[in-house]
Amino acid sequence: MGTTEILLRSRSHGLPTSPLLGQRLSGNGDLLAFAYNCDKDINSIGREQSSPSSKPCGPTISACLDLRMTDEAPNVRDGLLIQEGAVPEALSPLIQTLLETRTCFTWPFGNSNIVKGVARIKSWLFGPYCTSGSVRRTAVYLSMSHDENEGTLEMKNGSTILRWSGTGAEQRNCRIQKILASAAASIGGTLIDAPCMTVHPLGGACMSNDGTGSGGVINHMGQVYCGTGQEVHEGLLCMDASIIPTSLGKSYRIDACQVTDFFSRREPVCNDYSSCRTML
Ligand SMILES: Cc1cc2nc3c(=O)[nH]c(=O)nc-3n(C[C@H](O)[C@H](O)[C@H](O)COP(=O)(O)OP(=O)(O)OC[C@H]3O[C@@H](n4cnc5c(N)ncnc54)[C@H](O)[C@@H]3O)c2cc1C
Repeated sequence: MGTTEILLRSRSHGLPTSPLLGQRLSGNGDLLAFAYNCDKDINSIGREQSSPSSKPCGPTISACLDLRMTDEAPNVRDGLLIQEGAVPEALSPLIQTLLETRTCFTWPFGNSNIVKGVARIKSWLFGPYCTSGSVRRTAVYLSMSHDENEGTLEMKNGSTILRWSGTGAEQRNCRIQKILASAAASIGGTLIDAPCMTVHPLGGACMSNDGTGSGGVINHMGQVYCGTGQEVHEGLLCMDASIIPTSLGKSYRIDACQVTDFFSRREPVCNDYSSCRTML
């Protein structure tokens, strides 16, 4: 997003670019959700260890459920990865507020029973770390899938504005919600999804699909097009996730690094890798 913003600001100061700059942003189909108030303590909220014997929360993403290319999802764009997450201590009040406010109108209905009700009261009274409390019994799901790359970033009065219609992905979202709800139910929890967010922004300065600025913002070597033709700005390269023109349905730090590595080796003025690194 930073790269797209810098280019948009540069364009507003006169830098000619492809008209596609700021288009085709994707959130990588990210969804943050919780299996709230499960049957057992899950301990997914981190905190400083009070003693060596106290149980630590553990690292985030130590397990992954890979639902890509299964019988239910033969189409690659229906694939889904679900990872388990952990919440840093600083966010614990926020998460507790989110969980309790998103469920305050459902209690004591739904799948709640007396044990679950008591667990909630414990968390209200003694905070998110209370043993057998509803927040301590909450699992975190981080899921990645695909969206329609329909986000746009544009400049207006010196500020960048992100627009997202959210349309087109409704059917896919319903399916993902069903899968997550059944995963949550299997451990006695209720699915709560967080407000729309992503930690995997993609696109905005996408690579061209036809070798010109009409098909994208940069060419196959990362060079920024001057307009709709083949001419590029000498020495101006984009080398990060903003050039990836679609959701990937997985974490992509390595992919972003590979793109950077690939461009820095291929760029003609950068044949010498060590001097190229200095230049970059
Ligand atoms: C909470 C979280 C967890 C994640 N976990 C994983 C994971 O487990 N595995 C994984 O593969 N990926 C993970 N990711 C995603 C991973 O961080 C990104 O895929 C990766 O960092 C993308 O690399 P990038 O070079 O495109 O952008 P970035 O790493 O974001 O680099 C962009 C740089 O540009 C700078 N910048 C932005 N705007 C400006 C400006 N106007 N002027 C100057 N500099 C600017 C920023 O400070 C930053 O240094 C996670 C992301 C988050 C937020």
